[in-house]
Amino acid sequence: LPPLPKDAPIGPLQDDKFSRYSGATMFKELPLSKRTQDGLKRANFSKMTDIQRASLPHSLCGRDILGAAKTGSGKTLAFIIPIVEKLYKERWGSEDGVGGIIISPTRELAGQLFDGLKTVGKFHNFSAGLLIGGRKEVEMEKEHVNALNILVCTPGRLLQHMDETPNFDCSQLQVLVLDEADRILDVGFKKTLNAIVAQLPKRRQTLLFSATQTKSIQDLARLSLKDPEYISVHEDA
Ligand code: ADP
Ligand code: MG
Repeated sequence: LPPLPKDAPIGPLQDDKFSRYSGATMFKELPLSKRTQDGLKRANFSKMTDIQRASLPHSLCGRDILGAAKTGSGKTLAFIIPIVEKLYKERWGSEDGVGGIIISPTRELAGQLFDGLKTVGKFHNFSAGLLIGGRKEVEMEKEHVNALNILVCTPGRLLQHMDETPNFDCSQLQVLVLDEADRILDVGFKKTLNAIVAQLPKRRQTLLFSATQTKSIQDLARLSLKDPEYISVHEDA
């Protein structure tokens, strides 16, 4: 693969460009913004993991993804990079509101995802917030949540803001991510997730990642996935 020029276009890629990047092994071979490349470099991320290699050429084209790879395989960057690149490409600014939502089944995991977002977004200007239950700060969050571009949240807290926060608006959402999707699609979150999705625009990119492949037609319909790319990475594939 020839090295990309410095001024290579930033994602999302046109479909016809997809094949050009499908063989990439290093982040620097992908047409990412310089800001994202610098964030990755600073954190010493240079070689992509298998799930990143397999999914980023698709997700950067704007495609919906159902990605499965075992714990520890680097799924976090596989969805954070496409969110940041999409909003950067759209020149998303403070007045544009919520452009990306990452839903995590637990507070602890949400905190880790937020750290990943800070790494990739270090040289970007997006505002991001960690909205998780169990803290008393919901009233304070309400004052700021409308100014955030990227939300990392647990299902309950996100729905709480949708229900209670005046002018909370997700109508411009560009990318929705469900991390540990199998756990979020589980019965325990069913009502909450349905209520959330009902308030999101259908025209958006949706990225689902988990350790096991979810192929339930019902679940995919609930999330309005469009012709998703199924990506499964196994140890001895
Ligand atoms: P998963 O969600 O699949 O369990 P994570 O996204 O939490 O995996 O990543 C696991 C670990 O691998 C993290 O410490 C992360 O920083 C590291 N990691 C992710 N991608 C890369 C990469 N391309 N190069 C080196 N380390 C990486
Ligand atoms: Mg993970």
